[in-house]
Amino acid sequence: MGAEITAETAPAARTTLLVSGGDVVTMNTAREVLVGGAVAVAGDVIAAVGSSTELAGRYPEAEVIDATGCVVTPGMVNAHQHLTGDPLIRSCIPDLLPPGASIFEWSVPAHGAHTGDDDELSAVLSSVENLTNGVTTVVEAGTVANPHRAAAGMRRAGIRGTMGTWGWDIEEGPFTAPATEVLERQREVVDALGSGGLVEGWVTLVGHDLASDELLAGSADLARDRGTGLTMHMSPTSSDPERYLARTGRRPLAHLDALGVLGPHLLVAHGVWLDDSEVELVLATSTAIAYCPWAYLRLGQGVAGQGRHAEIVERGGRVALGCDASNAGDTSDILRAAALAAGLARDTRVDPERFGAHAAFELATIEGAAAIGMDDRIGSLETGKQADIVVHDTTSVAWNPRGETVLQLVWGTDGRSVRDVVVAGRPVVRDGACVTVDLAALHAEAAEAQRSLLARAGLEIPQRWPHIRCP
Ligand SMILES: [Zn+2]
Repeated sequence: MGAEITAETAPAARTTLLVSGGDVVTMNTAREVLVGGAVAVAGDVIAAVGSSTELAGRYPEAEVIDATGCVVTPGMVNAHQHLTGDPLIRSCIPDLLPPGASIFEWSVPAHGAHTGDDDELSAVLSSVENLTNGVTTVVEAGTVANPHRAAAGMRRAGIRGTMGTWGWDIEEGPFTAPATEVLERQREVVDALGSGGLVEGWVTLVGHDLASDELLAGSADLARDRGTGLTMHMSPTSSDPERYLARTGRRPLAHLDALGVLGPHLLVAHGVWLDDSEVELVLATSTAIAYCPWAYLRLGQGVAGQGRHAEIVERGGRVALGCDASNAGDTSDILRAAALAAGLARDTRVDPERFGAHAAFELATIEGAAAIGMDDRIGSLETGKQADIVVHDTTSVAWNPRGETVLQLVWGTDGRSVRDVVVAGRPVVRDGACVTVDLAALHAEAAEAQRSLLARAGLEIPQRWPHIRCP
């Protein structure tokens, strides 16, 4: 996906930025951490990674982000993020609902009432949250009605990611349409956004059992034809296996395999309830999985008993981490997801000798990038790659005294330590604040948009405990 960028093809532009003086967790093949290292940026790519002293001498005119004493990592990858719908009603959907109720009583009406303005605003909100937590790449999850507005929101915030449009062909629901029409919408977005840029086009379906065989097969054909990705939801609970078995006589991934849908172009969101044969299919076809552990815990979906993600990783499968929605995990923070992924892998297998912080941080960076087909461009700090860089502030309580670098990144801290973020060479977060968007104005706009959206959708925030307005 996208032209391969190597040192030879990196632009010869004057080095403009030097992130200097930190412990640089490169995530290169040898997993080298350069203590007192630096990353030099030319335009949107990394020009050099090395010693601070040496690079400061080599690039005396570069603007310097002083990362002395800090930890510097690649920008992190969030492979499943709903950019619209939920951000305006974040943490509003009750957590004591029966399965499905949160989707059909809340998410569907909220999405149905979303305007283009709401889509762009939501995408800015979610992008800003991701960026301030050190996430520089997001894969939109397949529920956007106005993809060009949402893409505009991503660009305003300055985040990298993929965008498609709402795709399902069930009988009723917002934005439902016959398969041919859904495919035409997908084609338009993929062709308009192209690939290799900051926001690129993907084919996105809602998934589950909300797509006909024609739509499933057509979407995979489209993704393969355009050389781009396809993502859809599948099997976060037992519901998808039950429905596929009833409708097709096969489990979901066996059915997708029979339709020719599985393959390296496909990123399945969740894949929690997989049986042995489906795990084998995932591995044999190099199908990727976006693993969103907080969502399964928030929604009580059974990952602790059913999840096979750690096994898939250990057997060479392609897995990335995701944060899902603002009412399913709620926080867009890949470091929290990484800690939970490692904790679940260790505890559910009662095995403290496998799948620790280092494996989890690989999923957050280089392995996550590989799962979404972008490891030629992002996921590590190496010459010629896109300059997506995060500086973690180590002056906080959580980082003192300093311990093993990756243990402290994953187990000891979270996105709150993120101080500076650079995406494609552009500083987008400085000193913990997003500099591309006026946050006070954004929050005021979001509060007003939430009031209007809830009124139009006929929803109300149901405070469970009495909230008494004081005089
Ligand atoms: Zn989702």
